[in-house]
Order: sequence, then structure tokens, then C-alpha cells
Amino acid sequence: MHLKTTERAKCLIIGSGPAGYTAAIYASRANLSPVLYTGKEPGGQLTITNDVENYPGYPQGIMGPQMMEDFKNQALRFGTDIRYELIEKVDLSGPVHRIWSETGHEIQADTVIIATGASAKWLGLESEQKLMNKGVSACAVCDGFFFRGQEVAIVGAGDTAAEEATYLAKLCKKVHLLVRRNEMRASKIMQERVLKTENLIVHWNTVTEEILGEDGVEGVSIANIQTGEKSVLPVTGFFVAIGHKPNTDLFEGWIDMDDNKYIKAFPGRSFTNVEGVFACGDAQDHIYRQAVTAAGTGCMAALDAERYLSEKGII
Ligand code: NDP
Repeated sequence: MHLKTTERAKCLIIGSGPAGYTAAIYASRANLSPVLYTGKEPGGQLTITNDVENYPGYPQGIMGPQMMEDFKNQALRFGTDIRYELIEKVDLSGPVHRIWSETGHEIQADTVIIATGASAKWLGLESEQKLMNKGVSACAVCDGFFFRGQEVAIVGAGDTAAEEATYLAKLCKKVHLLVRRNEMRASKIMQERVLKTENLIVHWNTVTEEILGEDGVEGVSIANIQTGEKSVLPVTGFFVAIGHKPNTDLFEGWIDMDDNKYIKAFPGRSFTNVEGVFACGDAQDHIYRQAVTAAGTGCMAALDAERYLSEKGII
């Protein structure tokens, strides 16, 4: 429990998904006495996932929330100071970085590890919320396997939707790609791949009206916005691939980001453009977005922070 209003930390970690907790495990084992702020969704995106079957080390699979509990307990075991609060403001102008929590508590940190993740965008339908993890998913690579041999729908028209639709087509009997305009935003090569995949049907000018079912997806009602025609697709899985939003608003103006607000980390490393500030996980990765890759980059960020502190003579 922190009582002072200002304190000093060698290593401050912001975020509590696989990246943040892995950084915490490494940083605490390296005696950096890390302080970790969980943010408003402790455990991150995996806490809204059911079965995780592709994380190495869990041969029988594991529930997402349980996995994040395991990560947290491993970080606690080595002494990470975990705080269930949001970071609200940063000032990264000096050699010592100033960070404020939502309660106004100030931390002056020699290193900051950004592990704030990204959030999937959703359509905003009530049925989508109700059936989340009961057939509705925002990650085909994570959940496609559960629908093998079945008929599914996926909404979106960017590279992610194109990639995930072709991925699903390899597993599923039939895939319906729901595109709201009469063209896709995805790269030409991805579009070509979509169009030549036999069991992948593109529905142009099509919006999702409602996902049907009570305890699982039993269909999706769609409408063609040009003809007004409505129909129901008999799908058991519904994937949303309309983009992600990295949780990086806090760092705007301080850290270099790409056009989509993902933090720019030095290729193959975790350095950002600000000395002593490192980025890991989905906040800096729009390509892989997997728990295992997030954990890997969390490890990199902690090792980079340790080296930085050592070079500066702080440890
Ligand atoms: P994008 O922002 O590129 O695309 C989002 C898509 O979702 C758009 O086509 C948009 O439609 C559609 N959409 C948004 N809201 C809705 C809605 N409410 N209903 C229906 N459709 C909706 O996101 P991506 O995740 O696809 O890609 C993000 C970035 O990552 C891009 O730069 C992409 O190129 C890159 N990427 C690269 C990959 C690769 O190179 N292998 C793989 C995956 C991603 P509309 O077009 O009508 O606006």
C-alpha cells in the first residue's frame, strides 16, 4: 500500500496483460522492485476470453482469466508491487519520468514500461455483448479452432478481416465475410486471396442487424443496404474484425506513434524515442497480437530497462 503522495521507482510498469506481467516477473527477479499499475481492466484482453489453447505450457488449455491470475501470482511471488489503479497523466520530459495515478499519487520513475495493450473495436450491438465468448469473438486465430467444420461469419473489410477470413476458411465449412461497402479496404493481394477462396462468400453492402441465439450463436441477421433485402445466415460463430484501438492516448505528444496510434518501438527492441521508456505487447504490435508474443516483448522490455538502469549507474 502506498501512502506517500510522491515516490520514486526504478521501474514502473503500466498495464497488466501478458506483456505487463511478464515484464514484472523479469524486472522483479532482476531486483528492480517494479511497481505495476493494472489499469481499468486488470488482466487485459485475456480476461474476456474463455479457453486459451495456444499458450505453450498449458497442454490442456486454460481459461483466459485463470491464466492472467497465474501471471499475476508469478509476478507477486517475486515482489512486484501491484496497484489496481489507472494511470491518468504522464510527463516524460525529464530524465526522471513523472507519472500520476487516478488518485493523484505521483511516481517518479527511472524507467517506464508501457504495456497498456489494445482493445478490439466492436459493432456495438446488444446481442454482440450478450454472446461474447459464447460464439462471438474478436480473434479468429484464438477462437477459430472451436468452430472447425462449422459455418461462421466475420465482419470487416481491412487486412485483418481478410487475413482472418482466409484463416477461418481453412478450418470452417463455410465463411461469410460481411462488408459494409461495395469495396474492401484490405490490400489487393489479400482481397484476391479472399475472392479466390471457394468456401468464403463475400456479402457486399451488408450490415449486421443482430446476432441470434441465447446461450450461443445460432445465426446472424443481415441486411443489404442497397437493396434493403434482409436474410439470416445459419452460423454458429461470429467474428468481429473491424480494427483495434491501441490504449495509448495517455502518451500522445510524448512518444512517437504510427498513424494508427501504435507506439513505435525500435525494430526488434523495446526502446521508444524517449530514453528510459520501453514499450511492449499490443500497444506497439498491430500484427501478431498474441498472448505469447506480448509476453515475449514484455520480457524484452524488462531486460532493456535493466540494461538501461545499469548503464546509467542506477543499479
Ligand atoms: P482497418 O482499420 O484497416 O479496417 C477496419 C475495417 O473494418 C474497415 O474496412 C472498415 O470498413 C470496417 N469497419 C469498421 N467499422 C465497421 C462497422 N461498424 N461495421 C462493419 N465494418 C466496419 O483495421 P485492420 O485491423 O484490418 O487493420 C489495421 C492495420 O493493420 C491496417 O493498417 C492494416 O493494413 C494492418 N494489417 C496488416 C496486416 C498484414 O500486412 N498482414 C494484417 C492485419 C492488419 P470501411 O472500409 O467501410 O471503413
